[in-house]
Amino acid sequence: MDLNLRDKVAVVTGGTVGIGLAVAQGLAAEGVNLVLVGRDKERADDAAVRVAQEFDIIATAIAADVATAEGCDAVIYGTKQAFGGADILINNAGTGSNETIAEADDAKWQYYWDLHVMAAVRLARGLVPTMKTRGGGVVLHNASICAVQPLWYEPIYNTTKAALMMFSKNLANEVVGDNIRVNTVNPGLVLTPDWIKTAKQIAGEDGWEAHLQEVANEAGGMKRFASPEELANFFVFMCSDKASYSTGSTYFVDGGWLQTV
Ligand code: NDP
Repeated sequence: MDLNLRDKVAVVTGGTVGIGLAVAQGLAAEGVNLVLVGRDKERADDAAVRVAQEFDIIATAIAADVATAEGCDAVIYGTKQAFGGADILINNAGTGSNETIAEADDAKWQYYWDLHVMAAVRLARGLVPTMKTRGGGVVLHNASICAVQPLWYEPIYNTTKAALMMFSKNLANEVVGDNIRVNTVNPGLVLTPDWIKTAKQIAGEDGWEAHLQEVANEAGGMKRFASPEELANFFVFMCSDKASYSTGSTYFVDGGWLQTV
């Protein structure tokens, strides 16, 4: 199936490891040129070089903290410098939290608001105008099943991801006449290196796989983690014209974990 994505330009925040890197690789396999964003410069540079070589595309790394206005400005500026603008924006950078509402201070709430919501707001403000100039585009937000089905130990994550989902809907409404489609993807369990690292810390070298299986069993549904590639396939499809009638929606890719319709 030709997805007609060749020579498009995609900005992938958190595109240097895990889900974001898999999405970047999936897009690169379709001939998409990339801007890969992460705070760790060495890892970002390395990912860009590897993806460019493997898929024969152009990939630029931008080391920036998208939880800050300056970091978002650097992404917008760097994208314009490298490619003149973007056709696709994948707002993927994010991370889990761990707190109670009683104990978490304002600074923690503010950090996650900046990372999960303001990054999307700021990057849309800077990059959507370039999509308009280019005749259209796609914005995808990687939220989480937790946006609607909260995990008890991370209220800040749940709340800010829910806000991201609502922002996505609002942006979709605002640009629906500009041939720009905006959607949210809510993944369930995705086996990234970070999950493995945490599982090893909790259960050790011999026990981490059993620990992750317990997590998956508790989630129910398919009772397994998705690979990052499984999720990336969905993102790539959503970036393509094959998803041309989809905007303003939220799609769950969670192996059946969601307990409601
Ligand atoms: P990883 O921790 O594996 O990767 C996170 C990526 O985001 C890295 O590239 C990291 O690079 C980057 N990043 C983190 N913070 C910032 C920041 N402030 N500025 C710029 N880049 C940043 O995460 P996953 O692949 O697991 O998750 C990706 C997204 O998917 C997240 O938003 C997460 O909430 C969501 N998700 C993940 C699930 C899972 O099971 N894995 C399930 C549901 C949703 P660096 O550290 O160098 O900045």
